[in-house]
Amino acid sequence: MITAVKGTQDLVFPEVGRWQAVERAAHETFARYGFTEIRTPVLEPTELFVRGIGDETDIVTKEMYTFQDRKGRSLTMRPENTAGVARAVVEHRLYESPLHGRLYYIGPQFRYERPQKGRYRQFHQIGAEVLGDPAPGVDAETIAMVMEFLGAVGVMGPAVQVNSVGCPNCRPIYVSALKEELAGSAQHLCGDCRRRLETNPLRVLDCKVPTCQPYLDKAPSFTDFLCEACAEHHDALREALEILRVPFVPRPRLVRGLDYYTRTVFEVTSSALGAQDALLGGGRYDGLLEQIGGPACAGFGWALGMERLLMALPQPAASRLPWTYLAWAGGGTYRAALALARDLRAAGAVVVMEHTARSFKSGLKRADRMNVRYVVLLGEEEAGSGRFTLKDMATGEQWALGREELSRHLAEEVGA
Ligand code: AMP
Repeated sequence: MITAVKGTQDLVFPEVGRWQAVERAAHETFARYGFTEIRTPVLEPTELFVRGIGDETDIVTKEMYTFQDRKGRSLTMRPENTAGVARAVVEHRLYESPLHGRLYYIGPQFRYERPQKGRYRQFHQIGAEVLGDPAPGVDAETIAMVMEFLGAVGVMGPAVQVNSVGCPNCRPIYVSALKEELAGSAQHLCGDCRRRLETNPLRVLDCKVPTCQPYLDKAPSFTDFLCEACAEHHDALREALEILRVPFVPRPRLVRGLDYYTRTVFEVTSSALGAQDALLGGGRYDGLLEQIGGPACAGFGWALGMERLLMALPQPAASRLPWTYLAWAGGGTYRAALALARDLRAAGAVVVMEHTARSFKSGLKRADRMNVRYVVLLGEEEAGSGRFTLKDMATGEQWALGREELSRHLAEEVGA
């Protein structure tokens, strides 16, 4: 038997219905903020991620699905979508168009990570990016938008944590303070942390190894080192979040796993998630477009993991689908059933029917296994009288209804 690649999953109904509902809520919420969808390719030149994400990051050093195509070009299956969006914005000069300043995406991402609960090799992200506006209000509004979305889908216990990682002016001062503080305890830190302390000290704060935590907790707060412009940006962000009624907690040592962030970084966790409680994260990346060869252009964005989002939603109550199974039996009833299904669907009902003859008894059994709420029985008598038997599979009740009444009732069930 050929099985799915490790760390990937197949999605079938009803689970896929939950995905669709989340995606619908995303399209609806983001549209109200003037965001439009962008779909970029899964395959990108490897160079894009090396330059865009940073060659010292875990993603680039250990996690990319990279291969040479038949012409020897190095391609990578995108591990995240911001770099691809930035590439598209530069390539098509979308930064010149106010209509394309607010973009969102929904799609699969690929990282060679150790699979575990809430962590996959093919996972899916919903994300949003705002390009061309350096103002702190953008950060606040885009965070408010994702919180509204989480509210719309019903995420349990979301909490926003914010920080600023400064800019190229003030970050080096923080980094030296951090190195100085941690130098004394370097021998207690894990191998990764010791290596990063030399190559990319901020990454140390990302370490999840429990024995490192007491030392990392002593690290200085970023907000104590911000330059005047960064401090102003951070204060304005906090003020705007308050006006937009987004509750948040400051997390002065929060950094993100990617190199491109400047100033605001944030994460949203959910009380419904366990160890992998980060539901989404993002921040400002004012230098990213330049890094990949574009013009100086401000950017702000976030990405959330679909799989984790679904884990943070309450499981829907087990109830029958508001669908109709149309059972037909007896000479000439197939044609009448085809016509009835056509009319019921036109009225908005969800109708399934078989196209091979079977008895009512076996039809009812299949309808039960499909877990549909309604069965319409169409026998020779019903075909003649134009009144159909409707059976409610949840209660066992039955009615004889004309075509109009039947359509209305079944369409109302699916909310048409
Ligand atoms: P990142 O792109 O690393 O900032 O991640 C953003 C969000 O994507 C995280 O908060 C997770 O919800 C999700 N995520 C990242 N990596 C994975 C993974 N391997 N499997 C599932 N979800 C992931």
